[in-house]
Amino acid sequence: MSARRKLIAGNWKMNGLKADGLALASDLAGRLKGAGPVAFDMLVCPPFPLLFPVGEAITDSPLALGGQDCAPKTSGAHTGDVAPTMLTDAGCRYVILGHSERRADHGESDAVVKAKAAAALAEGLVAIICVGETEAQRDAGQADAVVAGQLAGSIPEGATADNTVIAYEPVWAIGTGKTATPGDVKAMHAHIRAELDGRIADAAKVRILYGGSVKPGNAAELMAVENVDGALVGGASLKAEDFWGIASACR
Ligand code: PGA
Repeated sequence: MSARRKLIAGNWKMNGLKADGLALASDLAGRLKGAGPVAFDMLVCPPFPLLFPVGEAITDSPLALGGQDCAPKTSGAHTGDVAPTMLTDAGCRYVILGHSERRADHGESDAVVKAKAAAALAEGLVAIICVGETEAQRDAGQADAVVAGQLAGSIPEGATADNTVIAYEPVWAIGTGKTATPGDVKAMHAHIRAELDGRIADAAKVRILYGGSVKPGNAAELMAVENVDGALVGGASLKAEDFWGIASACR
């Protein structure tokens, strides 16, 4: 059994209004409370406006809160940006950075992700740094090199197993219903673990999540793969029953 405790993270993306977020988070907090000791940490990452109400609703619960992005700065004239301090103020312990949707929609380069991660770590947040290749890159045999390059460019100085989590999310598997095969996931997670060595303190202890169409029906198989230390879940994190089903697959 792995010494790394699994992390089941829900990325709500741009979904839900206040009532939806409160209902979902309260449902999950209630399930966690009723379950007693569990084999996983559970995290929800709502849209920014929902962080404060959701954070307040789960204060007394082990359910953790995270942001979906943060600015690489602490304050100032940056219209539309959200500082890491604002995330911790709302009760966040985690922040997702470098998600492929941000890399694609907002042109975030590895250097930008690295600067954001450095700011997040300085604020005491745990950075969940996302990496993953596109389908064209995989087809061209470049998946390993692309992911190695993203890791090299996105992980800041001072990253440790305590303050950094890596999420491997093949872009072609996100929201598509296609998942990487357990064999592909095993190979990529071993590759990532090897690439972390020397780049991050205690590389063997870093949690590496898989993301991309994780569902209750495929979670047990994926979570059993060597070096898979949890899941970053989009669509299936929006229904308490599905998200709980994925978490329950952790042994
Ligand atoms: P998905 O999204 O579970 O809907 O594929 C995963 C993610 O983008 O984090």
